[in-house]
Amino acid sequence: MIQTLGVIGGGQLGRMLALDAKRMGYYVVTLDPAEHSPCGQVADEQIVASYDDLGAIDALGARSDVVTYEFENVDIAAIARLEQSGHAVMPGSGVLRVTQDRVLEKQFVRECGIATTVFAAIDAPSDLDAAAATVGFPSVLKLRFGGYDGKGQWRVGDAAALRAAFAEGGGKPAILERMVPFARELSVVAARNARDDVVAYPPAENMHHEGILMTSIAPARVSTDVVDRATAAAMAIGRRLGIVGTYCVEFFHTIDDELLVNEIAPRPHNSGHYTIDATPCSQYEQHIRAICGLPLSPPRLLSGAVMVNILGKGEGNMLDGVVDLLADPSVVLHIYGKRHAPNRRKMGHFTMLSDTPVTEAAIAKAQTLAKKLHWKTA
Ligand code: AMP
Repeated sequence: MIQTLGVIGGGQLGRMLALDAKRMGYYVVTLDPAEHSPCGQVADEQIVASYDDLGAIDALGARSDVVTYEFENVDIAAIARLEQSGHAVMPGSGVLRVTQDRVLEKQFVRECGIATTVFAAIDAPSDLDAAAATVGFPSVLKLRFGGYDGKGQWRVGDAAALRAAFAEGGGKPAILERMVPFARELSVVAARNARDDVVAYPPAENMHHEGILMTSIAPARVSTDVVDRATAAAMAIGRRLGIVGTYCVEFFHTIDDELLVNEIAPRPHNSGHYTIDATPCSQYEQHIRAICGLPLSPPRLLSGAVMVNILGKGEGNMLDGVVDLLADPSVVLHIYGKRHAPNRRKMGHFTMLSDTPVTEAAIAKAQTLAKKLHWKTA
């Protein structure tokens, strides 16, 4: 029987995973380089070590019945090493090989018979002209490996801008994607277990600012046809990938009513935070169920939800305005326990529960509530 969960990465996703794991009676050990990480604060133990410290990774494996991770840029070699020494790691290294590489990921999605935007790999300056001819402009250049929250991405309008962006990226392998004229961005959080059961939460509608998710709305304001197509695509991707755990598939819903997959996250996702407060079984519990061989829980939306991320501003580490925010009875607040609030760092979120479906007025209300929060110096 699984008793101890090992979690590589001590950020907020690990913290919310650990909170559910503790409720379910598991012992949790996390590994993170920073002492008192958000996950470490609620886990039973934290191994303080860098992610490429193979001795520490081995120690985590030895302490755990199953190892998982809360960020997808975890070192594949470390995961493969754990697997080779007989430890259960979920999702496995095969999943990471696909999802860490934006080119392989999009090729994989197409092999599933699911659409993506037009793209081309750029590994060297000599690939630039051919990529520009295939993809055209306007387009987005993204680092092939390692970028997140809009980092390592450049919007480019012509060949000169593309060349400059590739140089700014240090000439590292990249992908050029045709800019999608989308009506909205959607995501489907789903979970698959080793028995090939798959469950999917209702799609969320996501609003970004400068590449960072700011607000998620569930259920998304789309037709049942779009819900069905997005759900079927997310389930097919999970099955073909053979993932065990919670994962997220992000889509562009185009102005022509097409669904194009943007990316796959092999872990619980920011756009699934709403499942904590608006469903009986959160994406985190679902992940634990999947990796521990427990039955998955068919998702059930108990109310509409507007989730708003609380980002650092780089000025002060104390959050002011919580009294005003919580005066609204529909708000549930989640703070991640990070000591410093640099600009754009995800410090917490709140979920405003509302009668289904979420209306424009509910979204406007959530945005007004968000303005009550300010960072100040203690
Ligand atoms: P990503 O890191 O790929 O999730 O990109 C971050 C955000 O940039 C997305 O959520 C979109 O808002 C925007 N974006 C990325 N790729 C494209 C694209 N091909 N067309 C239009 N917008 C994009």
